[in-house]
Amino acid sequence: MTNQQPRFESWGRYPALQADVLPLHWASDFPPQSLPSTPMLPVGAGRSYGDVCLLDQGTLLATRALDRFCHFDPAAGILRCEAGATLAEILEFAIPRGFFLSVTPGTKYITVGGAIANDVHGKNHHLVGTFGRHLLRFELLRSDGVRLLCSPAQNPEWFRATIGGMGLTGLISWAEIRLRPIVSRQIRYQGTKFVGLEEFVALSRAAAHSEYTVAWLDCVARGRNFARGIFMQGQHSDEPRPLRPSKPARLTFPIDLPEFALNPFSVGLFNALYYNKQLAKQKTGFVDYEPFFYPLDSVLQWNRIYGKSGLLQFQCVIPWEHGTQSGIVRILEAITASGLASFLAVLKVFGDKPSPGLLSFPMPGITLALDFPIRQQVSFALFDRLARITLEHGGKIYPAKDARMTAPQFQAFYPQWREFARYVDPRFSSAFWQRVTQLA
Ligand SMILES: Cc1cc2nc3c(=O)[nH]c(=O)nc-3n(C[C@H](O)[C@H](O)[C@H](O)COP(=O)(O)OP(=O)(O)OC[C@H]3O[C@@H](n4cnc5c(N)ncnc54)[C@H](O)[C@@H]3O)c2cc1C
Repeated sequence: MTNQQPRFESWGRYPALQADVLPLHWASDFPPQSLPSTPMLPVGAGRSYGDVCLLDQGTLLATRALDRFCHFDPAAGILRCEAGATLAEILEFAIPRGFFLSVTPGTKYITVGGAIANDVHGKNHHLVGTFGRHLLRFELLRSDGVRLLCSPAQNPEWFRATIGGMGLTGLISWAEIRLRPIVSRQIRYQGTKFVGLEEFVALSRAAAHSEYTVAWLDCVARGRNFARGIFMQGQHSDEPRPLRPSKPARLTFPIDLPEFALNPFSVGLFNALYYNKQLAKQKTGFVDYEPFFYPLDSVLQWNRIYGKSGLLQFQCVIPWEHGTQSGIVRILEAITASGLASFLAVLKVFGDKPSPGLLSFPMPGITLALDFPIRQQVSFALFDRLARITLEHGGKIYPAKDARMTAPQFQAFYPQWREFARYVDPRFSSAFWQRVTQLA
């Protein structure tokens, strides 16, 4: 039953591991008739950056063909679909019917299963929390054949463990999610230039009632331009407009760029151009939801910009009570000192809506996310330094973006991991899980 296929890659293309890939077409394809003795792991669209969606010498259960929509209640905006359906497919269905996702990350090319398993967050976290808060129920299939219906009222402990459970508690076959109504594709947008973290925090506080907020940060600028960026806020427009579906993206990044293409000079130039594309301190207007939520999705396979050695993202959250701003400044200074440049740096204030998952990442504070090319010794030493600063400031790192956290670091970031481990399916594992629990 196992098909040897081309290697399944995560978005960062690191680490490069070889596992068998078993495509599932129906929920009844699981558990496989002859269970392999090596571990299994369900995977979605492989949009996680590191190794939460990877296994070495095991079987990846590919869920993308489980993409059917089962039921839609237009009065309540509740959709039941199989877990391999992508957010892009849901939008294609929902937009013409006057609905949008309650929570969406910065790419729509992820599956519902992946969104649950990492309990993803979006630009509206400060108001509505994570994806899992808008999840009504789902079905969880265990390798011993047991099927569990999970909701806040039914098998609540499995509901809690599976949201943010990184695919380790079993296979999610379908899920029921709540959508939110819209009357237009348009977003009422405001972009404000800022310099320094204090101004960023002040803008975030002033925009606390704005539906969506996020900032792009120029992490190469130094001196009086240190921590400059553009603070973006938006709301769904309330002026009714035709709700047409989106056109598919047509551009694909054609080649793996050579390593030297991304260097502090080219990134500094990009950042200066990006910062100065908005001349005025403030810019307002209407934009389509696609460039507002998914600016990177317009070019397919943009990860090839980072070349064959790939990329990694560092995403941390530093809570308010532990000197958030000084923690973020220390991280930015460590990056500058390393000589590695990132042109995708994002800052956002997380709100205080509790995340429903036992291992969910968000907590109140500031989250910072940066993409880095993989340059073995330099980037790995930097990642370790950034993890240590994060720990010193009481923060944590997001597993969905990670491939470098050590076992002691993970266990300090997520002390509840031992409680979580009780729910892990005995036949399931991941390269991430093997790495971060190896000393236990
Ligand atoms: C450009 C870009 C922007 C992003 N922006 C954000 C953001 O703003 N916020 C955010 O939170 N994340 C963000 N992410 C990360 C991404 O949303 C998550 O990594 C997401 O989980 C990927 O989903 P996937 O379908 O690709 O799943 P995969 O990456 O294939 O798998 C992710 C996890 O889900 C598990 N899984 C998948 N399907 C199932 C299933 N059916 N049953 C059980 N477990 C399953 C896997 O085992 C794995 O642990 C971004 C990623 C990219 C590439």
